Amino acid sequence: ATPVALVTGIGRGAQAGVLVKDAAALERLSSARTLLIDKTGTLTEGRPALTGIVPAPGCDLAEDELLRLAAAAEAPSEHPLARAITGAAKARGLALPPAENFAAAPGAGVTAIVSGKQIQLTRAEEGGAERRPAGGAPASQDSATLVALLIDGRHAATLALSDTVKPTTPAAIAELHRLGLRVVMVTGDREGAARAIAGPLGIDAVHAGATPASKQQLVRGHQARGETVIFAGDGLNDAPALAAADVSIAMGAGTDVAMASAGLVLVRGDLRGIVKAIHLSRATLRSIR
Ligand code: ADP
Ligand code: MG
Repeated sequence: ATPVALVTGIGRGAQAGVLVKDAAALERLSSARTLLIDKTGTLTEGRPALTGIVPAPGCDLAEDELLRLAAAAEAPSEHPLARAITGAAKARGLALPPAENFAAAPGAGVTAIVSGKQIQLTRAEEGGAERRPAGGAPASQDSATLVALLIDGRHAATLALSDTVKPTTPAAIAELHRLGLRVVMVTGDREGAARAIAGPLGIDAVHAGATPASKQQLVRGHQARGETVIFAGDGLNDAPALAAADVSIAMGAGTDVAMASAGLVLVRGDLRGIVKAIHLSRATLRSIR
């Protein structure tokens, strides 16, 4: 596009809530047919709520004690799952002891020393909690994210957290399909939770259990097949994938790191912004012909 067309496009984008940080990305967007998209905070609200605490076999700690230790360890974290866990502890009026030696691994979990105990919160698979209790989990937990709580290296409980799909997501996905895009979900969450969200939305493919590095590898894999790849995400865990994508789109309500890594930022933080950005990029390119 000509500089004039691009400046006009950038101005129209700003009015529509699409901040264009990289004008070349706006041009590349018009030819992209592959959208890789994060689940938590992008397709969903990213404000999960704690819906269950299941003590591990042989663990005799009370539910409130399990929650107190988990919340204390998560208190320094800004992750949505951490906020859900500390929020639930607060709602129960639990006093949280300080966390020492706190460390967070993006896309994996946190560790800290609380009341002299080594506390870890990790993906449930790693804590061995993916095995369902006898009788199976209630259907309402099918889309739940499961987090394992380990105390001094032993599995003490599984926490279930549920997030809701943004009300604007279903229509936006349908519109993206109409515009000719293939929509692929990439998430750090477990397979079951990912498929329970992706199925009703008509998402074309699902990659679950992803790490920040594997999200980036997936972008590169599609590029190696000659595709122009859009990646949309909101988190610290999405930053490497955003940096590798041909067009990177961050949710305006997301982390600063995601916004810094992106070429386009959606002010209102929902997927209608991607639809607007695609219309804008196609119109901007047309205006030079
Ligand atoms: P997503 O790709 O869905 O945005 P993340 O990559 O941030 O999710 O996290 C992937 C998984 O790692 C989560 O589903 C959870 O099991 C675990 N995890 C990440 N951060 C935390 C945390 N602060 N506390 C507990 N579990 C976490
Ligand atoms: Mg996310």
